[in-house]
Amino acid sequence: MTTPPVPSGPARRALIIGSGISGLATALCLHRAGWDPLIIERAPQRRTGGYFVRFNGLGYAAAERLGLLKALPDRTVPGARMLEIDARGRITPGLPMPAQANGTPMRMLLRSDLEHVLYEAVHDLVEIRYGTGPATITQDRDQVTVTLTDGTVEHADLLVGADGIHSTVRSLVFGPEDLYRKDFDHVVAACVMQDPLPGLEEGDTLVATAPGRSAWINTYRDHPPVAFLLYRTPWPAAEIRKTPSRALREAFAGFRGAVIPALLKAMDRAESVVFDQVSQIQLNRWSQGRVVLVGDAAWCMTLYSGQGSGMGIAGGELLARMVTEHDHLSAALGEWETQLRPAVAKHQKEALRMQHFFMPVNRFGHIARSTMIRTANTPMGAKLAKAVMGA
Ligand SMILES: Cc1cc2nc3c(=O)[nH]c(=O)nc-3n(C[C@H](O)[C@H](O)[C@H](O)COP(=O)(O)OP(=O)(O)OC[C@H]3O[C@@H](n4cnc5c(N)ncnc54)[C@H](O)[C@@H]3O)c2cc1C
Repeated sequence: MTTPPVPSGPARRALIIGSGISGLATALCLHRAGWDPLIIERAPQRRTGGYFVRFNGLGYAAAERLGLLKALPDRTVPGARMLEIDARGRITPGLPMPAQANGTPMRMLLRSDLEHVLYEAVHDLVEIRYGTGPATITQDRDQVTVTLTDGTVEHADLLVGADGIHSTVRSLVFGPEDLYRKDFDHVVAACVMQDPLPGLEEGDTLVATAPGRSAWINTYRDHPPVAFLLYRTPWPAAEIRKTPSRALREAFAGFRGAVIPALLKAMDRAESVVFDQVSQIQLNRWSQGRVVLVGDAAWCMTLYSGQGSGMGIAGGELLARMVTEHDHLSAALGEWETQLRPAVAKHQKEALRMQHFFMPVNRFGHIARSTMIRTANTPMGAKLAKAVMGA
């Protein structure tokens, strides 16, 4: 397609699909760059719930430049303990958290903390329309036209698909999800609990593992615990058709002690549970004409990278800078992608290694993990930990 010029004048319209971290960040940055964004969100209202997020790297730097850090909490509790719980329910000291991005700043927070701060920054400036999403997308040299599922039609200069790993924008413009989704044989479930769990102190991270299974519980100051569970299955697509309650009870049967049964009960009472297979999204190009994908829609790196939220913010910020600096949209989107790709490729690769930190994928991994914990304070243990997780 020939390069459409970036429109000038006050009314450069951007349609952003999805009001997650990537969509909100992109809307904020485009608004500050003089665009007129409209956010379309499929959910009937703002999302709640989520999981813990380790926030550092390029996203942290972007949040600092955007002036968002002041409003972002740091839920790290000084002296927080990493604990491990074995299959018999015994609690012992655990592995240290992986290296803190080579000494660069980091915060522990919740996904909802990030969404809240971005929402507060954006909602007075940008319209967010809930309860609808794209049904058809067409584009020509002058504009992109989106028919929404509620029958309304929107025209824009730029369409941003920030609608997550199962992106409708990607399916409509780039092709079916199967072409781009690379599945792990892992399932993840995550939620915020309603109540504290017995026996955990503020700041504790408790990890329960068995070959091909792990459960992570994080406690924070002034907040109920958040948890995510991971397990391997040869048929993740079939697995996620079950209810989370049934699937998790089957996968975590055999964990003794009080904590895991209490966790499963607490998850039943949670307001919402993320329940999905673990996959990466890999596309050769993140834009086509006037349509661009940002965040998990473009490059989902999995929770194992620990960088998905940050790259959504960094990607949105850079996009706004590029469409400001370049006269032609294709040049702007090309340069945006050139600058962003090395970091995304690095984090996607890193995720493959880090899966072993989050879950011992087999018996051997479980033995290696136990050895690492037992020898954590010896030079050999430190070497092992560094090899597996960069700790
Ligand atoms: C358990 C877990 C732990 C994680 N830990 C970390 C971590 O430590 N650090 C980190 O940086 N990242 C972490 N991540 C990853 C990070 O949370 C994601 O990469 C990030 O939230 C993706 O944001 P997004 O806005 O791109 O997509 P999403 O959060 O998926 O948002 C997409 C939005 O689009 C909406 N939408 C979907 N379809 C449509 C449609 N058709 N029309 C309109 N709207 C639509 C959705 O309702 C949603 O609001 C973790 C993820 C998980 C699951």
